[in-house]
Amino acid sequence: MKKGLFPTNKFINLTTPFYYYDTVLLKATLESLKQETSKHNIEAHYAVKANANDRILNIIAKEGFGADCVSGNEIKAALNAGFPASKIVFAGVGKDDWEINYALENNIFCFNCESIPEIEIINELAHKQQKIASIALRINPNVKADTHHYITTGVAENKFGINLSDLEKVIDVVKKQANIKLIGLHFHIGSQILEMNNFKSLCTRINEIQQWMLDQKIVIKNINVGGGLGINYQQPNENPIPNFKDYINVITQHLTLQPHQQLHIEPGRSIVAQCGSLIAKVLYIKEGTHTKFAILNAGMTELIRPALYQAYHLIENITSEEEMEKYDIVGPICESSDVFAKGMEINRAKRGDLVALRSAGAYGEVMASRYNLRPYPTVYLTEDFQ
Ligand SMILES: *Cc1c(COP(=O)(O)O)cnc(C)c1O
Repeated sequence: MKKGLFPTNKFINLTTPFYYYDTVLLKATLESLKQETSKHNIEAHYAVKANANDRILNIIAKEGFGADCVSGNEIKAALNAGFPASKIVFAGVGKDDWEINYALENNIFCFNCESIPEIEIINELAHKQQKIASIALRINPNVKADTHHYITTGVAENKFGINLSDLEKVIDVVKKQANIKLIGLHFHIGSQILEMNNFKSLCTRINEIQQWMLDQKIVIKNINVGGGLGINYQQPNENPIPNFKDYINVITQHLTLQPHQQLHIEPGRSIVAQCGSLIAKVLYIKEGTHTKFAILNAGMTELIRPALYQAYHLIENITSEEEMEKYDIVGPICESSDVFAKGMEINRAKRGDLVALRSAGAYGEVMASRYNLRPYPTVYLTEDFQ
């Protein structure tokens, strides 16, 4: 199998672990997405929570995309990176008052709302600022996504969204709020979705809801189908850029938009995952009773996805061309779940070798913690080595 291309000789003297972002790949990915969205006049809002590194945000903002934020600080980071407020949407089940106020002060495009009390508070805070808040209703479409149950969000049992059975009641409440304007419907069914039929089911459900809205003579300007497109964690080298074309074709073919409706998407992982790798050093090779352990100087504090969601990340020994050998590849953290991979084949490893944990650009650096008082990982971009 092909290995990733890294400026390995420039990595040798750096302190590990660190994140490396291939910005050439990031830009190619953004171009590919832009090509598809512009064909269909779709507005894409990058989901900042996937990777909020300021330089990464800057590159994405420069390409003209909007931002999907889930906290006040994400809005701040998006504005600082150059995303225009007019393209910022604000989601989340628990928006704090200061976050709502901050979003109102900055005149963001839209609040994606998930409950009646939230809508009432936004109305109250908007009234105090003498503003009209534009909102979209995040509807729980009760559509299942074929992904890990921790990252499905669109079924009735999840905390996310407004249940369909409550929609009528919510719309009645919205109508009574003088400082709220309903401008859209918002959906998001989960993450790392590779089964295009899941998106097709979402579109079918949206069509039904749209029909009901039409019957009630409610005019909705924006339809936001959220994010969730998955990437190929098994073969990052063969598939570095997600298939945005198929994804957008499924949506545009199955979603019935009303005249003058604007379609929005919120891709996160699919934009940034493949451009990032966590680079770590092999500290020790330890002979276990059944397996060999390769113990790295990076662990769940730098990349928690394997411990949190049993996620798979391809690991490559980027300083060895020796025969392939099987290892349990683990971190140094005092937790049994601090395991990156069991029985993973990499080129025979020795102390001091550098390994790359691939496809780590999304939900990697942003989830780093200081558990065990470890420092946050440092970050390098392609341009730092040119
Ligand atoms: C997390 C999230 C996204 C992005 O999801 P990806 O799977 O990274 O594309 C988009 N919209 C909302 C509301 C989210 O919570």
